[in-house]
Amino acid sequence: MTSDPLTASPHPARAGATLPEVAAAASTCTLCKLAGGRTQVVFGVGRADAELMFVGEGPGEQEDLKGEPFVGRAGQLLTQLIEGIGLTRADVYIANVVKCRPPGNRDPHPDEIEACAPWLDRQLELIRPRVIVTLGNFATKLLLQTKEGITKVRGTEFAFTRAGHAAILIPTLHPSAVLRSGGRALAEARADFVHVKRALVRAG
Ligand code: URA
Repeated sequence: MTSDPLTASPHPARAGATLPEVAAAASTCTLCKLAGGRTQVVFGVGRADAELMFVGEGPGEQEDLKGEPFVGRAGQLLTQLIEGIGLTRADVYIANVVKCRPPGNRDPHPDEIEACAPWLDRQLELIRPRVIVTLGNFATKLLLQTKEGITKVRGTEFAFTRAGHAAILIPTLHPSAVLRSGGRALAEARADFVHVKRALVRAG
């Protein structure tokens, strides 16, 4: 979605002052073609003041039906990894790059990511997490504005600033990729989560 900055009206994500207000505005979003195929918008779940925030790619079938990110098989693995560092889903915030399910679980298209990004920006601005974990290539490339692939950058700490708030960003493998690849990828994801735990202790 390209627009003329002089004539474009502000993205609706800018209208809400609190997370519930922004979520309510997002629930009727029609800014990209994914709106036509969704059951509902999957905005995000968790603590509005979470110190740790996860960003995935986009809702799958289960998420689209339930209205909550990461509730399918990949979500079960994410939950285990979170619990493996002594936290629960209720302690963190979980969101996605795109808030509506791409048909047949295809990759989100660049125009869909661009149209949806202001919702994620607003979530980051309001939650102000100390540590952000990007799950897989889409979230990592969007938030770091990099072309580097996830296998190259995973487990590395990056400085991330949004609206004057500084955070540590750590990319890791997407749980769906871990499920597909198995053994070594799981060990890498676990190692990255230990790194996340250490970053949280330092940031706190
Ligand atoms: N994969 C994602 O990236 N996000 C979800 O919410 C579920 C699966």
